[in-house]
Amino acid sequence: MGKRAVIIGAGPGGLTAARELHQLGVPSTLLEKESQVGGLAKTVRREGYHFDLGGHRFFTKVKLIERIWHETLGDALLTRPRLSRIFYNKHFFHYPLRPADALRKLGIWEAGQCMTSFAAAKVFPQRREEDLESWLINRFGERLYRTFFKTYTEKVWGIPCDQISADWAGQRIKGLDMITLLRNALGLTGKGGGPKTLIDQFLYPRFGPGMLWERMTEQLEAAGSEVKLEHPVEAIRWQRGGVTSVVAGGKTYAGTHFLSTMPVKELIEALDPAPPAEVREAARFFSYRDFLTVGLVLDGRDFFPDNWIYIHEPEVKVGRIQNFGNWSADMVGRRNVTCLGMEYFCFEGDGLWSMPDADLVNFAKQELEKIGLGRADKVIKGWAIRVPKAYPVYDGQYQEGLRRVRAFLEQVPNLQLLGRNGMHRYNNMDHSMLTGILAARNILGSRYDLWKVNADAEYLEEGADISAEELHGLEQTQPLVPGRVSTAPARLGA
Ligand SMILES: Cc1cc2nc3c(=O)[nH]c(=O)nc-3n(C[C@H](O)[C@H](O)[C@H](O)COP(=O)(O)OP(=O)(O)OC[C@H]3O[C@@H](n4cnc5c(N)ncnc54)[C@H](O)[C@@H]3O)c2cc1C
Repeated sequence: MGKRAVIIGAGPGGLTAARELHQLGVPSTLLEKESQVGGLAKTVRREGYHFDLGGHRFFTKVKLIERIWHETLGDALLTRPRLSRIFYNKHFFHYPLRPADALRKLGIWEAGQCMTSFAAAKVFPQRREEDLESWLINRFGERLYRTFFKTYTEKVWGIPCDQISADWAGQRIKGLDMITLLRNALGLTGKGGGPKTLIDQFLYPRFGPGMLWERMTEQLEAAGSEVKLEHPVEAIRWQRGGVTSVVAGGKTYAGTHFLSTMPVKELIEALDPAPPAEVREAARFFSYRDFLTVGLVLDGRDFFPDNWIYIHEPEVKVGRIQNFGNWSADMVGRRNVTCLGMEYFCFEGDGLWSMPDADLVNFAKQELEKIGLGRADKVIKGWAIRVPKAYPVYDGQYQEGLRRVRAFLEQVPNLQLLGRNGMHRYNNMDHSMLTGILAARNILGSRYDLWKVNADAEYLEEGADISAEELHGLEQTQPLVPGRVSTAPARLGA
């Protein structure tokens, strides 16, 4: 058919697009700037230990996606139970909160204070419920709010709770308040049961999420597709009517169709010639929350049984701690050690981000000891791993940025943007993969609107292998990003 695709980025979105294209008989070349595949969902290896950047649960409502996971990994795809609790004041608290458990572990004095503060909130509720802080105080009282909600939320998002829109909590923890929790605890759940329960098991590759993307790459290469590592795309050459080629690693790659998962901000900057001023200016409208994990290897096992824990102690900066051996024993190997991932949410260039690696490892060790989860002198090794652009930020300007970019794309219809930073969408792997599949099918003549995957449910072609219910389920299971007060929370497609 003379079609040839060039795909920017070998993360979940780009690789799945290449896989689908191969099945449709279209050759492709994947250009990846890093020395390994997987993007945000890669597995980082250090001296035989495996680190997942964030802890990637494989969960999807879309059967086609799950089938791809199984077909690619076979019996290397494990089913794992979930345990994740809150750690506060040297106690583990059940997550989601259980009143009896929480009050017992807080101790009589503190529990009494919490109940008094809860009663006060019920008698004198905050009138305006626009922000997350007042929303939570009205439902739990000030003291429980400070203990179980404020610290962690602010660590993750870097925004004070009184500036986060209450709508986010309304959607995220729907039906949750102290009264409901108490009624549930007493078995008085009434019609419709209690609030949504958490997914209590998920799929996980033996050697972490990157194993899936490495296997997929091997299969693609064996089938004749090209995956070029250490090929950062430096220029995207275009003219009215379409993109003609991209330049990566000093070489030019021509094609008939182009797919991009690189951050949309960087895509705009790579366009050659530069796009009109209004599009150039839009590059400034995209910002990101970054993330770093300090991988620590500790002598001995059995530190805690959770896959990960949420750290609510306000005196430390660590937000979450992963225990990789509890995701899959192969992440650690047969050694008598424990591998932890101390996770810090930050902004590129801030104090934590800029700290030298050795200092970061030291800092993480001290924090672990401070909260009482492990002794610093038990740490045998450690590495700092930085993850730039981990979270696309939904602020007051990104939507205008996307509007301008989408208007520009009409001039270059052979270029499709997909995936997480490619579309500036806070999504899970399954969403990136699905946009990859649909973008590939568009090359063969389908007309899916990747910006409205859910709305496309009506358009699904015969034999599409995806149902309208699955697309709806996909949207419902994507994470929500808090908006600032006066900006509603955003869900995919919103
Ligand atoms: C902390 C954290 C926890 C997460 N947990 C989960 C989870 O539990 N479950 C889940 O399903 N999802 C989870 N995710 C989301 C998941 O990681 C993403 O949805 C997925 O990786 C997005 O895939 P992508 O291909 O769209 O983008 P990416 O993974 O960002 O891949 C883009 C690729 O493009 C490459 N690239 C960028 N610029 C260039 C350039 N100029 N030239 C060439 N290549 C370039 C990058 O190096 C990268 O490999 C989590 C994410 C984070 C950050």
